Amino acid sequence: MNYLNKKTVEDIDVSGKKVLVRCDFNVPFDADGNIADPKRINEALKTIKYLVEQNAKVILCSHLGRPKGEFNPKFSLAPVAAYLSKALGQEVKMATDVIGESAKSIAASLKNGEVELIENVRFHNEETKNNPEFAKELASLAEIYVNDAFGTAHRAHASTEGVSHYLPAVGGYLINKEISVMGKALQEPKRPFVAILGGAKVSDKIGVIDNLIKKVDTLIIGGGMAYTFLKAQGYEIGTSICEDEKLDLARATIANAEKNGVKFLLPVDNIAGLEYKPDTQCQMVDSHHIPDGWMGLDIGPRTTEMFADAIKDAGTVVWNGPMGVSEWENFAAGTIGVAKAVAESGAISIIGGGDSAAAVEKLGFADKMTHISTGGGASLEFLEGLELPGIACLSEKE
Ligand code: AMP
Repeated sequence: MNYLNKKTVEDIDVSGKKVLVRCDFNVPFDADGNIADPKRINEALKTIKYLVEQNAKVILCSHLGRPKGEFNPKFSLAPVAAYLSKALGQEVKMATDVIGESAKSIAASLKNGEVELIENVRFHNEETKNNPEFAKELASLAEIYVNDAFGTAHRAHASTEGVSHYLPAVGGYLINKEISVMGKALQEPKRPFVAILGGAKVSDKIGVIDNLIKKVDTLIIGGGMAYTFLKAQGYEIGTSICEDEKLDLARATIANAEKNGVKFLLPVDNIAGLEYKPDTQCQMVDSHHIPDGWMGLDIGPRTTEMFADAIKDAGTVVWNGPMGVSEWENFAAGTIGVAKAVAESGAISIIGGGDSAAAVEKLGFADKMTHISTGGGASLEFLEGLELPGIACLSEKE
């Protein structure tokens, strides 16, 4: 699928039209019920502001948490409406339902440039089931559909895909940014193209590895999943996390990398701990022989240097997954070292969502990266080369 050929909000006349915009307002809340991190709302502002400036009648929708298909005030989007009202400098009219009287009457009375937010789409079970009747009801609120929720674009739900069967469908600025940066990196990467994959499990990333191995020049493997590869090569890995049922797959992957002429880098040293605990006793160990009873919890300094060396001349870097248990200070050095190397490389740098994005942000390297994806699962599926239903459903440019 050519992601780069999708219509965007700029390719359609929205003036005076009712526009249903699917956003990702799935933000975390603190114990007092305040929005703990408004990043996702802020990411949606560009599209909303554009639509307001174009005199559209803007109807926003999103999911929040997992309310199990029924109204639950704990998962109400009302705090998001309050936040948005301040951010936009105009009232965002909060509906008390999704496709009921409140949502419909506000939508019908919107004037040009006004904004409504309907309630959490997951107050209806039909949302995640992609029920066509529910999608049709949602679509009936508007004349145009804009999807700007990259974080849920890998799900075919009523508000992410279903509505596109009833309305002209285009992408918002956020989705467009995600697909153009990641799509270009995959389709026409500036070389050398280096992929860095980490995190806990091989099984979570094998699809990404298989897809990227056909495209990259260098594949760097760190984090917990490196130990399955090390064991597959005959090394002793102590009590390090390992998927024994994936050893053959790991061997096949290494052979495949060789066949494709891809430089395949695994850790040569590690910081190992006695127990899976933040303050466990630790020591530096060689990858060839992790002593009995010890588990690799981070890459070691020689590995960090070797990885940094491979990253420094890269034209494009794609990174998904930390190099160790980076949420624990004693095992964060490898991830910090790699983040620093990516930041200093001058490469087009793309950080997959989830843990690696959180690590890069926490470590203060966010503004040094070309792109930090807003979708963990969605960016992984994108890098796997899978079709994302929330993007596939958008109209193609003529
Ligand atoms: P993922 O969601 O697949 O990117 O995995 C991220 C998780 O992998 C983080 O919670 C890390 O704590 C964990 N992780 C990274 N390296 C290791 C390791 N060496 N041993 C155990 N867990 C790890």
